[in-house]
Amino acid sequence: MSFNTLLSQDHIINYFKSVIESNHLAHAYIFTGQEGVGKSLFTKEFIKALTCLENENGHCDVCHNCSRINGHNHPDVHWEVLDKKEKFIKIERVRNLQHTASLCPVELNSKIFVIQDAERMNEEAANCLLKTIEEPTPNTLFILITNSLSRLKKTIVSRCQVIRFKSIHSQVIREYLMKKFNNDGEEIEWAAKYSCGSIGKACALLKEDFFKENNNVINKISRLNTEQNISCAEEFVNSALTPTRSLEEGRQVLRDILNCILRYYRDMLIFKINKRENSDKARLPLFNANRSDTIQLHSDTTSQETIVKIIYEILFSLEYLDANVNIHLLIESLFIRISGSNNQR
Ligand SMILES: [Zn+2]
Repeated sequence: MSFNTLLSQDHIINYFKSVIESNHLAHAYIFTGQEGVGKSLFTKEFIKALTCLENENGHCDVCHNCSRINGHNHPDVHWEVLDKKEKFIKIERVRNLQHTASLCPVELNSKIFVIQDAERMNEEAANCLLKTIEEPTPNTLFILITNSLSRLKKTIVSRCQVIRFKSIHSQVIREYLMKKFNNDGEEIEWAAKYSCGSIGKACALLKEDFFKENNNVINKISRLNTEQNISCAEEFVNSALTPTRSLEEGRQVLRDILNCILRYYRDMLIFKINKRENSDKARLPLFNANRSDTIQLHSDTTSQETIVKIIYEILFSLEYLDANVNIHLLIESLFIRISGSNNQR
């Protein structure tokens, strides 16, 4: 089994090597860990290792099974992937899956079902899946992939074997990014830290040029005043909720912006606390080390109590963004609080 492309997950690779060798597979697994640490990549490699026609101790990547698994078109391997425009995995999808599971495999000895973003099953879909996992048809293997184990039904979790993927150290991500993008500039350093241990997120940040957007958000928030708070909020909301995006896609853009603001205030708090202890500025664990001057200036003129209050406000906004609230009012209200705290300077 070759998992060379999977970084920092040796505990999982070694575990599954021995499981495959001893043929002691469970009937259902949950692969959990934050986004972008290799869960989907590993799933594909794992299934190839189980089904490869050429290599008994790994996978060849080119045989009829491996190539169809790479292309997501093997008749016995079923991937449920949520469309970006959909918020939930609905019961119809799980019913279809249940029906397919009741049929005999076409070519392999067993049928394999992968459900990505499994925490996004709605209540009905989760109950339906629970029945399927509780009374499994022989020769089926379920792999549920999730970024958030706590959002899965406890009854489902208790019937699966949970495999936890680790976050990846920023130094490992930095080295990977330097090679992949052939660059060692400040955006590489920034993405390695800002991505919080997610290599997938770090690559996406660089591909989408989010370094610029993050700097733009910091510039606006650090200078936000009561005269332009509403227009600034409107600008961010309108740039996210465009006619070409679904509401869910627009929400994701706003989530990314709120996370920028959250990390910026978290950096301010780190500065505030460490200033009392006279720590070396260059050694502080900041997400935005490249903006340390702005962070220091802002944190020097804002009380610790205010910084903590704003952090709570941002967390509140992130939570309510997913609920059925007026998004314009939600972001305006946050920006009014931030500008109010800036004006006290
Ligand atoms: Zn193969």
